[in-house]
Amino acid sequence: MKRYNVAVLPGDGIGPEIMGEAVKVLKAVGKKFGTEFVLTEALVGGASIDANGVPLTDKVLDLTLKSDAVLLGAVGGTRWETLDYSIRPERALLALRKELGLFANLRPAKIYKDLIDASTLKPEVIDGVDLLVVRELTGGLYFGVPKGIETLPDGTERGVNTMVYTTPEIERIARVGFEVARKRGKKLCSVDKANVLETTELWRKVVIKVGKEFPDVSLSHMYVDNCAMQLIRNPRQFDVIVTENTFGDILSDEASMLTGSIGMLPSASLGAAKNRAMYEPIHGSAPDIAGKGIANPIATILSVAMMLKYSFDMEAASDLIEAAVEKVLNKGYRTADIASPGEKKSTCTEMGEAVLKELA
Ligand code: NAD
Repeated sequence: MKRYNVAVLPGDGIGPEIMGEAVKVLKAVGKKFGTEFVLTEALVGGASIDANGVPLTDKVLDLTLKSDAVLLGAVGGTRWETLDYSIRPERALLALRKELGLFANLRPAKIYKDLIDASTLKPEVIDGVDLLVVRELTGGLYFGVPKGIETLPDGTERGVNTMVYTTPEIERIARVGFEVARKRGKKLCSVDKANVLETTELWRKVVIKVGKEFPDVSLSHMYVDNCAMQLIRNPRQFDVIVTENTFGDILSDEASMLTGSIGMLPSASLGAAKNRAMYEPIHGSAPDIAGKGIANPIATILSVAMMLKYSFDMEAASDLIEAAVEKVLNKGYRTADIASPGEKKSTCTEMGEAVLKELA
């Protein structure tokens, strides 16, 4: 029997509620597919601050480094907002990304037919949208040096950030893009601003070179300003988008809003080795609804599906979870965040149980 170690970090707010349902789904899939998932739960974020004084202890970091994958709920909350930035709950995420070397952020945006009205865009524009943004996470403008604000001799100030990428950095994110596209619709669109920025001129050159290793994936290129427009004009044209850090930050938020439902969207952050991966919903800890049992667990359940696909190559199991979610929505189950006025609302547990029933 195959055996995988998964670090389970529920975190704060609705984290423990949504994680409870996601873990049930993971266990059920393990049973069905003859795979043993050894789950080790640990504190992170505000919960860890309360217990240990820091958002991420060395012991928990060590656990994540020894695991095959990390499943995270969400961190943060009003209770910890007065703390110094260096020990805020969100620091745990930054530390995990850094220590695990998570350089590729994958964010799918998929429209479910039954939730089409949740989007602010017209149904005929978004019907059938199923795309994924691969964002480079550790380089580019956010990390490049020199950076900072300096005072000039004349008393004015000068702010500087540097967009910098090396060939190996571009090669590895391009490879993730191609590999992911290979597991989906085999179409990769690389987004850059090669007509203005030399950094992305190099980006385009390297992506084309890496593309020669993936003759089965069709590669196209788009300038970032056009991509921002095309995502709204005709989002169905995209399968996988690969792009640098800043562009990806903006475009992945834009793409996720096509669906209009934050409680539905999973994400993955991947590192260089197969056992360096973290899966989490894109939403936060939702302190406004924490403890009420009304949070939507689907984003976390779909994060489990991504984990099965990208960390454990269990594509059939992953597809089964996605299909179960689709069926549950089709049957009319709705948590408060995705319910239309007057529709019956399911609790977090009811939604999780409904997915489990479909899996069985
Ligand atoms: P949020 O995503 O937590 O909530 C935004 C809105 O969406 C709220 O109205 C919330 O009730 C709703 N919502 C979010 N997830 C939901 C779900 N699964 N089901 C139903 N409704 C849901 O964003 P915020 O309010 O800006 O941040 C709250 C806290 O979360 C802050 O401390 C913030 O720093 C933290 N945060 C953490 C992460 C993370 O852990 N990755 C990400 C974003 C924000």
